[in-house]
Amino acid sequence: MEHPENDPKYNGLNVNKGVVKPPSLNPYLKKRLRSNSYSVAEYVDGILSGDRVILSQAVTLVESSRPEHQEIAQTIIEQCLPHAGNAIRVGITGVPGAGKSTSIDVFGMHLLEKGHKLAVLAIDPSSERSKGSILGDKTRMEKLSMEKNAFIRPSPAAGSLGGVARKTRESIVLCEAAGFDYLFVETVGVGQSETAVQSMVDFFLLIQLAGTGDELQGIKRGIMEMADGIVINKADGDNIDKAKMAQRQLRNALHLYPLPESGWSPEVLTYSGYYNLGIVEVWDMIHRYIDLVKHNGFFERKRREQAKYWMFESINEQLRNGFYRDPEIAGLLATLEEEVLNSRKSSFVAAREALERYYQQGK
Ligand code: GDP
Repeated sequence: MEHPENDPKYNGLNVNKGVVKPPSLNPYLKKRLRSNSYSVAEYVDGILSGDRVILSQAVTLVESSRPEHQEIAQTIIEQCLPHAGNAIRVGITGVPGAGKSTSIDVFGMHLLEKGHKLAVLAIDPSSERSKGSILGDKTRMEKLSMEKNAFIRPSPAAGSLGGVARKTRESIVLCEAAGFDYLFVETVGVGQSETAVQSMVDFFLLIQLAGTGDELQGIKRGIMEMADGIVINKADGDNIDKAKMAQRQLRNALHLYPLPESGWSPEVLTYSGYYNLGIVEVWDMIHRYIDLVKHNGFFERKRREQAKYWMFESINEQLRNGFYRDPEIAGLLATLEEEVLNSRKSSFVAAREALERYYQQGK
């Protein structure tokens, strides 16, 4: 039936008859939901054959805090482990604006041109507060994100630094099993996350800026002791002299540190991510380091130490989660908190009471 408002007296107003109603569920979404229910074997086969879509979904499971997802994720990781461990893992840190994403883009393209496959992961524990991380964001790595041999993943967003870092550590296993032979772990050089990154990478690269009047910023936070290489970015145009001066200052500062256990004296280089200058030299440094530590045994020793570190981290996290997520304990803690706040009970007595209750449950 024609709509009454189509009467010619309603000039210029025309109401259409209507269109076929679209399906209530997006058909593409349906496909995704179905594919989320892969079996463990399908996940593992997909990962081992280098399927980036399946890899990405498996990483989502690793990041999920739902127990049923965690259970599948852990089985997948276990089956991928024998195929992992073969990548060169590089941690990349620097304050916001230092040029991490620009540099990762060019460092990454350099590797891809040589026939390598690169995965970029990130650790940003603040991303939960800021609702979504910018680290490891594809849109910041314009060239890499178009490449099929690159896999880019932003930071897992949930939980404590330890939790976020553990998820990234586990995702490394999956990426390596999928055949990525280079791995970057990106982090913002402003907090505690460097320690976590250091405990999962082979080489730790600190990106610095010259001319900010704060060249020795890394020293204060102890980040410089962790760095195997310091690279001063934006050594281009008017900035070259400043970058060279910062290089000299940093080299002098590093002389004050004792030689690290690796037997490698951290180097300071200048480069320009934007203008693609000095990139080959940065990679040359990283490869010289890897050659040295593989030769002197430090590479293997550090990886074993890292494995031990993550075992204890996982135990700690699971103990903590088990305890705090227990509904009975949560109730008891609320009461104890009141008592401690009102000085009716000492913190230590309250803590012991809560733990004893937990252990009495036979957990
Ligand atoms: P991030 O926050 O550490 O990831 O830094 P970005 O990679 O987003 O870079 C911050 C800004 O510095 C951007 O405007 C870049 O274009 C600029 N930038 C990055 N690398 C260089 C460089 O080598 N030279 C110059 N002149 N600018 C750069």
